[in-house]
Amino acid sequence: MSTDPRRQMFEPIEVALEELRERYLPDDRGEVADDIPELAKADPGHFGLSLVSVDGHRYRAGDTDVAFTMQSISKPFVYALALADHGLEAMLDRVGAEPSGEAYNAISLDPDTGRPDNPMINAGAIVSASLVAGAGAEERFERIRTTLSGFAGRDLALDDRVYRSEMATGDRNRALAYLMRSTGALGCPVDEAIEVYFRQCALSVTADDIATMGATLANNGENPVTGQRVIPEEVDEQVMAVMATCGMYDSSGEWLVRVGLPAKSGVAGGLMALSPAQFGIGLYSPPLDAKGNSVRAVEACRDLSADFSLHLLHRPARDTPVVSLRMPDNDEPAVLCLRGDVDFVGAEQALRSLDPVEAHWAEHPGPHELVLDLARVSSVEPVAAAMFEALAAGLAESGVRLSVADPRRRALLAELPEREAP
Ligand code: GLU
Repeated sequence: MSTDPRRQMFEPIEVALEELRERYLPDDRGEVADDIPELAKADPGHFGLSLVSVDGHRYRAGDTDVAFTMQSISKPFVYALALADHGLEAMLDRVGAEPSGEAYNAISLDPDTGRPDNPMINAGAIVSASLVAGAGAEERFERIRTTLSGFAGRDLALDDRVYRSEMATGDRNRALAYLMRSTGALGCPVDEAIEVYFRQCALSVTADDIATMGATLANNGENPVTGQRVIPEEVDEQVMAVMATCGMYDSSGEWLVRVGLPAKSGVAGGLMALSPAQFGIGLYSPPLDAKGNSVRAVEACRDLSADFSLHLLHRPARDTPVVSLRMPDNDEPAVLCLRGDVDFVGAEQALRSLDPVEAHWAEHPGPHELVLDLARVSSVEPVAAAMFEALAAGLAESGVRLSVADPRRRALLAELPEREAP
């Protein structure tokens, strides 16, 4: 637990993580993966939870510094790199974005084109890895390692033993790659694609690392601990969307309903989940359920989501941004005073609140003026700005002047004229 006095006030978060750890540590259901023989050596008693906020603060409980291999948790990050290299349209031609509803290592390929269903299953991940720009396996993997290190905020290294173990036994993935090579879905030699894919799976991380990686996704692609921009914002959104629909193997749909957070798990026992604009969480516990997800990590995420109301589609009741509306009075302009972050719905509410003013203007001769008082507004979304600009244009046609008052002159609505606070 934190000993830094500045962080005492955040202790409830560490207490909550510790409670989850204590609640589920005795749960010994599940089996440690053994299809990659080296993974079977993991200690089934390890359980760590690490949370990193988009401000870069970390909270942790349990075994958050135990190393394990990323396995499938590498998939969203490699997909992100391929997206940054090629763009969404080109990537969708090669790898779909549909949940397969099948096991991660199934032959989930489009019957006509051979295109894998999505980048979170092995087939789609092998194609994604092959599309990362680079002259050969070595260069491609180095780009992957560097990018994933950017997400983690530290230099990630290969676990050579796990890599070799999968190299020696991963024939199902080779078979998948040969199949995709035969249909043209895989554009590079099988050995090259498999080498890159097995290496990305064998990158060694801790629960702390994957929490930072999740927090980077939650923070629009900028690592909140190091400040490094790792991927462009639009790529970040696309990756989170695919994680939300396809990230938890063939229980992705139920996960979205129950937990409602974009997530990705791996057969080594890691699970990364994130709450956009809030935090990333990394969990590690090796025993897996029948679908391949860490038993304790899934239970802990369910509770965390319910206790902290984290479901992506949960929307707390919102306040109207309209603080007050002063009706026009003789020579005095009408004043609409707004607050907070004004988005699409906020602008729509603000515009609708003007109905009585417009009725007043219709009955009284002009000239008329409306002032938007933005002193208490913290931001205006581009869509809301466009709505106010359209309002200004419409009002100008009927001889009404719209101006903005902001004592801090932040140019929140830069296209509209400013005036002194009324
Ligand atoms: N390297 C593993 C495989 O391809 C990753 C599987 C996983 O974590 O889902 O079989």
